[in-house]
Amino acid sequence: MAALNDPLSSARRLVVKIGSALLVDGESGRLRRDWLHALADDIRLLRERGVQVAVVSSGSIALGRRVLGLGGQRMRLVEKQAAAAAGQIRLAHAYQEAMARHGIAVAQILLTLQDTEIRRHYLNARSTVDTLLKLATMPVINENDTVATEEIRYGDNDRLAARVAQMISADTLVLLSDIDGLYTADPGVDKEATFIPRVERLTPEILAMAGAARSDVGSGGMVTKLEAARIAMEAGCHMAIARGTQLHPLSRLMEGTSRCTWFMARSNPAAARKQWIAGGLQPSGHIRIDAGAVRALNEGKSLLPAGVVAVEGDFQRGDAVVVADEAGTPLARGLVAYNSRDARVIAGHKSGEIGQLLGYRGRDEIIHRDDLVLLNKE
Ligand code: GLU
Repeated sequence: MAALNDPLSSARRLVVKIGSALLVDGESGRLRRDWLHALADDIRLLRERGVQVAVVSSGSIALGRRVLGLGGQRMRLVEKQAAAAAGQIRLAHAYQEAMARHGIAVAQILLTLQDTEIRRHYLNARSTVDTLLKLATMPVINENDTVATEEIRYGDNDRLAARVAQMISADTLVLLSDIDGLYTADPGVDKEATFIPRVERLTPEILAMAGAARSDVGSGGMVTKLEAARIAMEAGCHMAIARGTQLHPLSRLMEGTSRCTWFMARSNPAAARKQWIAGGLQPSGHIRIDAGAVRALNEGKSLLPAGVVAVEGDFQRGDAVVVADEAGTPLARGLVAYNSRDARVIAGHKSGEIGQLLGYRGRDEIIHRDDLVLLNKE
């Protein structure tokens, strides 16, 4: 069994999604503090092994409903939003307290669907989470339920967690919920249902196994989990569906004492991202570069403003552009770190002058090498 859990033992950047049913007691509506503390122990263990961990946690609505006296009744959207507002503050505090026992700082990030879809929001969220992880702080992420209206909300944290994993180039995503993985049919209904330990491809047969199983407390079902798997796998991220009901769910997975279903990505996050840059985006401009910059690019370096001789087109920060030599021959594609107006201002200048020229300090590179794909090489 241990071999099947390999992606977790080789993870470098991990996103763990925590379902409401784990964190909040269904009967009393109270936080299961012992469970959360055990999870915090697991996270510390992973971090000691050098794994960067971000958490996507549900539970704000489940916690908030008790606080607002909305007990067992069915809530309208506005009530859910109010419950989320009351619950989120408690949720964040609970994580802060649990991680502080290990001297680990946490930071809260609330995202909407738009933040993961609109490029500039996406890039900002990406760099914030990235910066937090590099500063050894644990991001605790949830949907910003209070502003997300019905049409424009995820509503489930399974897909949100997968988009976060993709956004931050995580190599592993674990969805902890009240089910231990994928079955050929809903095991609650069909006694013949058999467990599937590993999925290499999301075939129509696999998708058909999802049915519409739902748990009581959270919002996700197997359908949203398989949608999450698709997002993760396309981003080069392995994903597990695992039961988190017992204490120390992550340690149990690592030891092989709990089973889970692994959805195996065939690529890795860096390669998947480069593929997306190379083929998935319509370029909105051209940047021409001098011979020195061409050499630097061929050696795998970033593109600095000093090597830029001309900027063509109208683009925003984060848009895809074509990089060409002085004669106009396309050499690479990349995501540009400045909009076209600012790119024209800094073109031909040293990176050290950027602050003075623009009045703000952006990146040293006009296209970072992680955001650059050479056309004939990769
Ligand atoms: N964002 C919701 C909450 O924190 C949970 C969504 C879900 O259950 O997946 O309560």
